[in-house]
Amino acid sequence: MARYLGPKCKTCRAEKTKLFLKGERCHTSKCPIAKKAGPPGKGPKARTKKMTDYGIQLREKQKLRKIYCMLEKQFKLTFEHAEKMAGKTGENLIMLLERRLDNVVFRMRFASSRNQSRQLVSHGHVLVNGKRVNIPSYRVNEGDEISIAESSSKMIVIKECLKEYSKSGVMPWIELDPDSMKGKMLAVPRRSEITELAAINEQLIVELYSR
Ligand code: SF4
Repeated sequence: MARYLGPKCKTCRAEKTKLFLKGERCHTSKCPIAKKAGPPGKGPKARTKKMTDYGIQLREKQKLRKIYCMLEKQFKLTFEHAEKMAGKTGENLIMLLERRLDNVVFRMRFASSRNQSRQLVSHGHVLVNGKRVNIPSYRVNEGDEISIAESSSKMIVIKECLKEYSKSGVMPWIELDPDSMKGKMLAVPRRSEITELAAINEQLIVELYSR
């Protein structure tokens, strides 16, 4: 399946929830979901069909997959990995998604969205423990040092994103030194710490894949 390159906000409107695809704008009043915009192509009074259980589970999976900007196959593989781990599969899935290099780069504020961080990684601008890694799905471990390559440290787009750090900081499980463009993942976050996913019910995704 090809990656969707159309308007990001339309995706959120179709799912009727914030998927945080546009960086800082998602946290402002400019967000169409904050303005209560309805699904694209439908008038405010359009009737919507009642969803089946399968439909509800499918939509939940699609939301999480889109938040982390993943293709269907990658997402399914991550789920299969989560199933093999000890503990709750749904929570394992979210922990694995959080450990993706493109996500960690986004969390470190080197990029304003996961789409942008994915590009930074695949274009070779990111180092893990001093070595260039250009695989967005690379799994970051606790204590790994993530940095921007010396040759990329003058990129305006990264500098602009880092300005946000001074306004709102980083997540508690991330350590960042914006001057040297280096950061560390101090710990794998707990499910409850990822407030951005408060509206996601990962158990529905487990039920979907158990069918
Ligand atoms: Fe657009 Fe972000 Fe709001 Fe989604 S959350 S509708 S991407 S501004």
